[in-house]
Amino acid sequence: MKIDLSTLTIKKAHDHFVKKDFSVRELCDAYLDVIKTRDTSVHAFLEIFSDLDEQIARAQALIDSGKSGLLAGIPFAVKDNILIKGKKASASSKILENYTATYDSTVASKLLEGGVVFLGRTNMDEFAMGSSTETSAYGVTRNPLDETRVPGGSSGGSAASVAMQGALVALGSDTAGSVRQPASFCGCVGLKTTYGSVSRHGLIAMGSSLDQIGPITKNVSDAEIVFNAIKGQDSFDSTSVPDAKYVQMSARKVLGGQKPIVGVPRHLLELEGIDESVRKNFLDAIDRLKKLGYEIKDIKLPHVEYSLPTYYILMPGEVSSNLARFDGMRFGFYEDGKNLLEDYKKSRGLGFGKEVRRRILVGTYVLSSGYYDAFYNKAQSVRALIIQDFNEAFKVVDVIITPTTPTPAFKIGEKIKDPVQMYVADIFTVPANIAGIPALSVPSGTTNVDGVELPLGLQIMSAMCCEDLLFLVGKDFLNEDSA
Ligand code: GLN
Repeated sequence: MKIDLSTLTIKKAHDHFVKKDFSVRELCDAYLDVIKTRDTSVHAFLEIFSDLDEQIARAQALIDSGKSGLLAGIPFAVKDNILIKGKKASASSKILENYTATYDSTVASKLLEGGVVFLGRTNMDEFAMGSSTETSAYGVTRNPLDETRVPGGSSGGSAASVAMQGALVALGSDTAGSVRQPASFCGCVGLKTTYGSVSRHGLIAMGSSLDQIGPITKNVSDAEIVFNAIKGQDSFDSTSVPDAKYVQMSARKVLGGQKPIVGVPRHLLELEGIDESVRKNFLDAIDRLKKLGYEIKDIKLPHVEYSLPTYYILMPGEVSSNLARFDGMRFGFYEDGKNLLEDYKKSRGLGFGKEVRRRILVGTYVLSSGYYDAFYNKAQSVRALIIQDFNEAFKVVDVIITPTTPTPAFKIGEKIKDPVQMYVADIFTVPANIAGIPALSVPSGTTNVDGVELPLGLQIMSAMCCEDLLFLVGKDFLNEDSA
């Protein structure tokens, strides 16, 4: 049977496997063919794994045993900061060049148990710092929908792999928008999960109080399937949410058959740097939800406009402490100096790229004893106010919507010289990480730029552990069959 990758979903692939319409090998080959023709220019992948034969045989055996779940044989791409035992994971940094993982991340072990096939690892901004995948030490990734443009970042390789039909699903990580923003730029669905819902064990840390692993998929049902497979309490991650919390929240979510109430913080649309096309697309999305019978309520999130400055104080602080371990001695890149101090200076100076060094410097500064209160502590207080804003809002609405990004995908090279311009790309996505709440980006149409239709995204947020609401509204919005 001819495989139509463009309309394939996890559920459909599973049904075809069961009916023997095609095998895991045939499906993987279909993706590998696309990778062969498209990835020379897109450069979504850093590596195609060499053990595909074994992985495919294992998945096929699981399917043939009749005991497999939906994920057996599903071809995945994995971001280069998620560990799989025996495979390289470099966080797209020179300092981790040739680092080979010695253990499986919790997400990888859950997915491998479910029989997925990891096709390869994807390019990203170095240590997940960036919004365009241009800070990778291994070259840029191009947006498959317009190769003169960025795919977004930091999970740009992951989003590009799904958008070009190089994998059915990709895993990314999201510290301020790195799953949702590239998903939006590439016309995919991206889920940032509740903080603590998915174990961070085996994710190369960036900002530990903000990082979460999440899926990039073609539709909402696939994101839901992957989320259900990777979530869960984990003794390796002390911040993981107890499973009981989800049971408790889901009871609240029955809503008596009513549609969730949608909150719109219209004042955020007035912030600087938001493209007219994004505003218009967002207003159209509101209309669409109204037509679908949703009640729309205007809300205020008074402190949310401070999310970006808050993030750019807290995150570098966490980065500077998390990245202190890369000293050239234990793993990755090493450059010999005259003495130990020189070894450190050379290894870290040459091993880390510019953006990473910038953040380590800022982070070291905001955590220094003289400035800790003025910056880090102040930002922590603002974080508490932002969380309070969301808590108040979720007393009157069930979900909150915003655009996912302030602009459509920008040109390669357009923002890389101006870090602040680049940081603004996260203006709508960063609040969810600060508050720890889940957020889903779904495609909301396109805008024509220079004759090319570029995708835009709608972001849907809910209270912690209420991903169900996001799936419900997201599927409705996309008119997606929930089967
Ligand atoms: N653009 C954000 C940053 O550079 C995204 C980070 C992320 O979500 N990993 O910090």
